[in-house]
Amino acid sequence: MTTDKKEQIAFHVGKILEILELDLEKTPERVAEMYVDEVFSGLNPDTYPAISLLEENVNNEVVLVKNISLVSFCEHHLVPMIGVAHIAYLPSKGVLGLSKIHQLARFYAKQPQLQERMTQQIAESLSQELQTEDVAVAICMKHLCVLARGVEDQTSEMETHVLKGRFDSDPETRSEFFLRISEKKVGERISRILSS
Ligand SMILES: [Zn+2]
Repeated sequence: MTTDKKEQIAFHVGKILEILELDLEKTPERVAEMYVDEVFSGLNPDTYPAISLLEENVNNEVVLVKNISLVSFCEHHLVPMIGVAHIAYLPSKGVLGLSKIHQLARFYAKQPQLQERMTQQIAESLSQELQTEDVAVAICMKHLCVLARGVEDQTSEMETHVLKGRFDSDPETRSEFFLRISEKKVGERISRILSS
């Protein structure tokens, strides 16, 4: 199945290169492999990470994972968008292993995407895995299609977020999330707590 897909993609990429009058012998196979096995591997549902909830004795404090690096491809131009995700939740039934949060975010990033939809999908899926509505996802990305073409802007970034449950309804939880993701350095929060 995937071999068949790779062969077909390689054939068509070869055709594009031919039209562009480029003689790049190995490129079609490389591109096909990159699409199927790497950058668009999330189109294969079998690559969804195996996740189990760790039913630890949880307190009801915000768990936040900041600066998860993400690379995705915009579905309009199939060029990269590069940035970070900040993911938070209030544990109710349990917690997730740290790497599971990365894996889940990357599963959705490894598909041709719209940043808005990806943010939503990560939030929904996290909420299901954690069995709680209380999740927040913020994503900030540079879109290479904006940088390299069109308006050719090198500095802009796009920020999207999805707030669910208490992150949406409780002003305190909401502002804690935004305050904490805005703190750049690891020590900043700790010094803020110590000085208050
Ligand atoms: Zn684009």
